[in-house]
Amino acid sequence: MQRWFARTPSADSKARAELRIGIPKALGLWSTHQFWVGFFTALGIEPRRIVFSSDTSEEQARQYGKGRVTVDCCYPVKCISGHYGELLVREKHRKIDVLFSPMIYSLPSFLKGHALDTLACPRVMAAPENIKAGFLREKDAFAEHGVRYAAPFVSLGDPKLVPKQLHEGLQGVIPALTLAETRNAAREGYAALEAFNARAARRSREVLARCAREDRPCLMVLARPYHMDPGIGHEIEMDLQAHGYPVLWAQHFPTDPDLLEWMFGDDIRRGFIRSPHDISDVWPSSYSANTNEILWGAKAAARMPWIACVIRLASYECGMDQPSYTPVQQIVERSGTLFFSFQDLDSTKPAASMKIRVETIAYYLQKHWRDIIERKKAASAPGCPLRKIAPPAGPAGGPGFRA
Ligand code: SF4
Repeated sequence: MQRWFARTPSADSKARAELRIGIPKALGLWSTHQFWVGFFTALGIEPRRIVFSSDTSEEQARQYGKGRVTVDCCYPVKCISGHYGELLVREKHRKIDVLFSPMIYSLPSFLKGHALDTLACPRVMAAPENIKAGFLREKDAFAEHGVRYAAPFVSLGDPKLVPKQLHEGLQGVIPALTLAETRNAAREGYAALEAFNARAARRSREVLARCAREDRPCLMVLARPYHMDPGIGHEIEMDLQAHGYPVLWAQHFPTDPDLLEWMFGDDIRRGFIRSPHDISDVWPSSYSANTNEILWGAKAAARMPWIACVIRLASYECGMDQPSYTPVQQIVERSGTLFFSFQDLDSTKPAASMKIRVETIAYYLQKHWRDIIERKKAASAPGCPLRKIAPPAGPAGGPGFRA
């Protein structure tokens, strides 16, 4: 009797459950991956069947991207050929059915509503089309591997537009996809991304609170999210962390109201800015999501006494980053914070020179962090909320202090 009324999964939902989706872990994916996991999971794709390519590496480019590279001056864009190639040649039992590489036009950002816009770099947005060309040059490599290519245009910074864009862009890719369920899946995607970002910000606050309680230094990285990729950012911040300095990324800086009031309240009352997220005082042309966050991060680092040093990372000849080099450096250095910049990262990793620069930074930090913290504390408002927080249960992250 029970069996008579039991629901059997429809052919469409079974087909969906069996799909394996490959996503190149590059560019905009570094700040939106949780959206895509939440989105596809809500559509009935098992999380274990949503696979990301590995971190960027020279081996990946050599092995999977050879002969596929298209003309682009940006190294982070060129590298995607290796990611595509790696996803296409997975073994039979792990083979993907869909290579999903969204053309992300705008990005979710904690500065949304405070800046003029939150657009992705145009080269980042166009990269999937650009890279695809290298896989169609002689013959269709996607068809050859039985893989469907999907690169929907999507304005992730504008949630109202997303369901329609993804519904249209995934027709024929996700069986029997309706607009209503795409809308629901997008909602789930944003919820997953927000939860992830909130966890990361909480973790950053724990690190800052520990530094504040113990009067110890930490570092801030100002870079685009894809510089977290070891093959793009060359793990410079990891090498510094190995010297005992906790590392924070601007994108995950805590934005709790008590902290922001302490850091920016005076500037608001004096009329310099309208809100703690306002960057119009230092960056009037605030259209790019990643650039805006870098500028805001510079302001935050300047006001946080325990951030004794800022590391700026940028890829070789990055046209988006170049105009921001001077303002970022000035904001940081005027606060008395150490500033080091790696502005020319590309495929070559001159390990020895990187090591020397990291050793130099560690030397300067060791020598100056106490004075920097004391000077910055003297210049900040009284009543830092970080000192009122109870110690977190676990370690604050990263290796113990050795500085
Ligand atoms: S942000 Fe810079 S490095 Fe990245 S794709 Fe755009 S121009 Fe190239």
